[in-house]
Amino acid sequence: MVKEKPASARDYADYLCKLFGTAEDGDFRVSRGVTFQITGDCTLRCSYCYENHKSCQSMTLETGKKIIDYILDLYEKDDGNFICKKTKGIVLDFIGGEPLLQAELIEKICDYFIAECWRKHIPIAPFSRISFATNGQLWFTPEAQHLFRKYHDMMSVTVSIDGVKELHDAFRVDKNGIGSFDTAYRAFQDGKKYGWYNSKMTFVPGSIQYIMPSIKMMVAEGCEVINCNFAYEPNYTRDDAAQIYSELRNLSNWLIETRCFSYISILEADIGTPNDPADDRNYCGGTGNMLAFAPDGKAYPCIRYAPISIGEEKASKVCFGDCHNGLYSTEQQRKVKEELDSITLTSQSTDECIHCPVARGCGWCSGYNYELYGTANKRYTGICYAHKARVLSACYYQNKRCLEIGDVEPKKIYLPQKEAEEIIGAELSEELFSLEKKAEEKEERIRGDSGR
Ligand code: SF4
Ligand code: SF4
Repeated sequence: MVKEKPASARDYADYLCKLFGTAEDGDFRVSRGVTFQITGDCTLRCSYCYENHKSCQSMTLETGKKIIDYILDLYEKDDGNFICKKTKGIVLDFIGGEPLLQAELIEKICDYFIAECWRKHIPIAPFSRISFATNGQLWFTPEAQHLFRKYHDMMSVTVSIDGVKELHDAFRVDKNGIGSFDTAYRAFQDGKKYGWYNSKMTFVPGSIQYIMPSIKMMVAEGCEVINCNFAYEPNYTRDDAAQIYSELRNLSNWLIETRCFSYISILEADIGTPNDPADDRNYCGGTGNMLAFAPDGKAYPCIRYAPISIGEEKASKVCFGDCHNGLYSTEQQRKVKEELDSITLTSQSTDECIHCPVARGCGWCSGYNYELYGTANKRYTGICYAHKARVLSACYYQNKRCLEIGDVEPKKIYLPQKEAEEIIGAELSEELFSLEKKAEEKEERIRGDSGR
């Protein structure tokens, strides 16, 4: 049976909501993410990195402790909407630059968090997680190894591998322009002993031709959950969409031929339906669901709004305060928070997106919207063609799999055939819609047989 979105592929917040039965009422206070940007520096110079304002500034342990104090105070006061006594666990997310430049600091902040939870009788440590993504270049340093040995049971670590070596080395280079794949790959192999098979690949127009070999590589590595997606920032063209469909169609054929049961997020079954009018939430967490602290202790909605990403001037307008003097203590800080909290799917979207027949799963980044337009309440839609091609590919995969293996249900194509034709051409569109019809007929036959 092909893997449904398994627990390990879910957001940890989503997982805790399900565990504590608050998923239906959308109460995400059960689990909150707090980001510690512990350094502004990095060992690599990846060409697509959105952090365009790196520095050598690092967080001090004193600041890290203040942030923990702030979080635990929120819990004890129990009068806010972010962390309160309904909170069962926190994801302590460490980010850089490269977080392992400060492995010792991560360890000390975690030590302090656990000791303070214990001392104050705050029962959230057992359900809390330590999480980060690393480029793997400092994996084997004594500090990093010490951290892994001590906390691996409560850690979720992703070594960022973009895909096959040729692709990875084209983008992820060091200061001298040398590719970083070999070191990252060794780190990834070593992380497997802790069960860290996590992968997250992000594709852009220049890397579409690597999607299939990269996913095949991760399947061969034993990854059962392969998270991969398209970057939000580029403006994808119709030609990109045709190429995406061709690549994902070939990948689908290979997955079916080899009877592969891995979960591949890019071909997920539940994307590509219209918006649910009853659910108007803003799915990007960067509008009030998270908090990110910069090395100096200043707080932002997420790292995408922090100075390392968008520069000091723009970031200062969305700063919530700091861990030394308090958050939301000025009129301006409260106003920013209120504005971000009020953003919904419809408030930021055009009519075309609100009524789009395949809207579900079409994402955005509120931080990038803010960087681009000066407001997070206006959605950038450069991903449109990539999303539509992804939806058509998911329909191809699910319907073909339904017919040939029979372990998934038919998937309805919500995009009008004429529009599909414009993207993938008449012949492939004909094939796609005929697969949908055959898969539905098969399903009806099965239903008829079992009803007899
Ligand atoms: S490793 Fe990460 S932070 Fe460093 S340059 Fe690459 S994408 Fe940016
Ligand atoms: S960006 Fe395009 S695919 Fe996404 S919701 Fe808007 S119209 Fe639909």
